[in-house]
Amino acid sequence: MIPVISKLPQTGTTIFTTMSALANETGAINLSQGFPDYDCSPQLVELVNKAMQNGHNQYAPMAGVMALREQIAAKTERLYGSVYNPDTDITITAGGTQAIFTAISAVIHPNDEVIIFEPAYDCYAPAIKLMGGVVKSLELEPPNYRIAWDMVKRLINNKTRMIILNSPHNPTATILSKEDIDELSALVKNQDILILSDEVYEHLVFDGEVHHSMARYPELQQRSFIISSFGKTFHATGWKMGYCLAPAYLTQEFRKIHQFLVFSVNTPVQYAIAEYLKDEHTYLDLPAFFQQKRDYFRAGLQNTRFKLLPCAGSYFQSVAYDAITDEKDTDFAIRLTKEFGVAAIPVSAFYRKGIDRHILRFCFAKRQETLDNAVDKLIKV
Ligand code: PMP
Repeated sequence: MIPVISKLPQTGTTIFTTMSALANETGAINLSQGFPDYDCSPQLVELVNKAMQNGHNQYAPMAGVMALREQIAAKTERLYGSVYNPDTDITITAGGTQAIFTAISAVIHPNDEVIIFEPAYDCYAPAIKLMGGVVKSLELEPPNYRIAWDMVKRLINNKTRMIILNSPHNPTATILSKEDIDELSALVKNQDILILSDEVYEHLVFDGEVHHSMARYPELQQRSFIISSFGKTFHATGWKMGYCLAPAYLTQEFRKIHQFLVFSVNTPVQYAIAEYLKDEHTYLDLPAFFQQKRDYFRAGLQNTRFKLLPCAGSYFQSVAYDAITDEKDTDFAIRLTKEFGVAAIPVSAFYRKGIDRHILRFCFAKRQETLDNAVDKLIKV
């Protein structure tokens, strides 16, 4: 073997791969990884077929199919009131993950500090580290996981280059409030701090609340990479299709990396989504669709010994299990899969230090029958 010095010595296989594999192996109901167990719209599949039959099978333009970028610009303006130029400010990516990695690679230099909030989606910290950046994390406290902005202020110094936000939040299902936006705006004012705003669940906000996209606030928008994912929006996580919105000066740097990472992404899917997006119901109906699932699942869980944490957005429901056992969350998640037949994600996996607050995360983007079966099993715990 040739000696290789690992660039990520602490990193193993992600918990999502591990838990989904265990669910498959044991035949457990998989509420761990965040993906629907129902199909995406047949109309969308038909549109992909049509695009393929129409010969859209070669490289797309590096930044993405123009028709799709135009539809995204129109949607963003309609929803958040901000104008993104499809030519210079919008790039189509291979899902949110590639967009996040690309944005971090584009602007983070060795020793730059990046603030993240933990629990955090697991792809932020490795990307920062690979660029030689330094992760500064602020741990949020259950059950409400609010950001203590005075603590964020203390983390900021002249090396701070970026703050990574995620609303609606995976795994905690919280959303940023207008107060958070005001605090954030005050904090970054007159500072050279960029924002990476992971908004892949932008359309999954419940109870009539609004999604506080960075695109709504000009002073934040000007310093933000905003990431979204059609995998989440259109129940097609396997298509790995997303995008990055950023003002031209940031998009210019983003595309320098994007062109060498993937050059361009799946052409027929881009044509299909461009067509599908023309009907705004395809995304405006999502909050009601998922809120119904959330309410149904929460009602079922009321009959178990799991304690429900709040869920304001995303398709995740976290639960505390202190009333059941004092096992470590990783051990309990494995036992729950093997003995009770339901797979969940232990939330300690979202902390670099593996902080265990005895909380599990379930994904409720599932058919009613799946949720019923899962609740029947969880009642026995
Ligand atoms: N960010 C968050 C918070 C996510 O939950 C996910 C998907 N689980 C992603 C980004 C990645 O999205 P995609 O599947 O489009 O790469």
